[in-house]
Amino acid sequence: MGLRQVGELLETSLYMSETTEKRIALVTGAGRGIGKSIAELLASKGHHVICISRSESSCGAVADAINAGGGSAESRALDVADKAAVKEACEALLEKHGNIDILVNNAGITRDGLLFRMSDDDWDDVIETNLSSCFTFIKYLARPMTRKRWGRIINMASVIGLTGNAGQANYAAAKAGMIGLTKSLAKEFAARNVTVNAVAPGFIATDMTAELNEKQQEAIVGIIPMKRMGEAKDIAATTAFLASEDAGYITGQVFTVDGGMVM
Ligand code: NAP
Repeated sequence: MGLRQVGELLETSLYMSETTEKRIALVTGAGRGIGKSIAELLASKGHHVICISRSESSCGAVADAINAGGGSAESRALDVADKAAVKEACEALLEKHGNIDILVNNAGITRDGLLFRMSDDDWDDVIETNLSSCFTFIKYLARPMTRKRWGRIINMASVIGLTGNAGQANYAAAKAGMIGLTKSLAKEFAARNVTVNAVAPGFIATDMTAELNEKQQEAIVGIIPMKRMGEAKDIAATTAFLASEDAGYITGQVFTVDGGMVM
């Protein structure tokens, strides 16, 4: 074989490193913001995407737009904090698809307040929606992944889970809990070729951060070395990489995507 042929062969194998295999992906909180961007990006890579959010109007619109654009998606309205509803949905989806290959636990809420003013409901709602939902989805969807010996689980944490934040004890506890869950399950599933990673976004321009007033937003941008909030597509890109074949040897990690805020 001549040098030129070796070069051509190397080039071909480089471009073949990303599989074209179509995977089944499930994204929670896919109706808006970061989850919507993740659903769209995974669909653009040829995967079938199951879009889940609280209201059918939001996840349904995302799935419709993906299908209209030539991709493949379906939607399911569901409260991720409702364990019985998640179990029922997971069983139905496994029956239909046989397996979910990529699970992105992205749905999340905030209910901010200083501790003495934080109600029991504010605590419970944030823990159940952000953290317990990850446990429930993984519990029902990971077993078939381990049997298939291929799976990607990505949990949407937050830099707040790494640093803490006054007024967000519930949210910080939920996100830190997601990181502990990620690392533990990475160890449990590694030998079965199922990776479990977390993404920790900094401040990203979505409906969630639009709740902050102008003064709060200015203060936040002031502490970001890149001097701007991130975009949903920044988080989608990291998530899609972790869901890819190329990320197959990465597990138990937390990827901070925050314009340099937490180093
Ligand atoms: P967002 O714009 O508020 O969108 C949240 C999505 O989650 C919506 O689609 C919503 O459904 C869905 N959702 C909320 N509660 C749900 C429930 N109980 N059941 C089912 N779906 C539910 O939020 P985002 O900013 O994109 O944030 C996405 C994730 O990133 C969250 O976990 C958040 O904590 C995390 N994060 C965000 C930032 C940020 O700066 N934005 C920073 C760090 C981490 P509907 O559309 O039906 O309402």
